[in-house]
Amino acid sequence: MIAYDLHCARNHVFEAWFPDRDSFLSQKNAHLISCPFCGSTEIDKAVSPVAMRTGGASHDGIHLEDAAQELLSRVSEYILRNTVDVGTAFAQEAIKMHYGITEARNIRGVATEQEEKILEKEGITFLKIPVAKKTDPSSC
Ligand SMILES: [Zn+2]
Repeated sequence: MIAYDLHCARNHVFEAWFPDRDSFLSQKNAHLISCPFCGSTEIDKAVSPVAMRTGGASHDGIHLEDAAQELLSRVSEYILRNTVDVGTAFAQEAIKMHYGITEARNIRGVATEQEEKILEKEGITFLKIPVAKKTDPSSC
């Protein structure tokens, strides 16, 4: 279901629900939508953003969990493509770059809680993200 904020030719604003965008357009074009205040069928969408209902009983709504999962996997993919994996040497490498011992580059890896504290103390910024784990078919 999609909720549209609509307004009539006389600027009465009201909300109406439609199964999808196409139903709204066809009903609007057929003048089936009328203003609850003045009965005008000259209806248009108000400029306010469209609200979309998700989850619940709706089967065709986009589930937020799926969207978040999708976003997370894209972020992980981006990081995998654009960083060098230094594994457990992450903290060591980050400190080396911080002091100019090695050239700055984008690295990824793992750090222990203790190492993270050291990095924080050194003023080294790092980003912690939950990387989506790829299921290894051989481990089944
Ligand atoms: Zn009206």
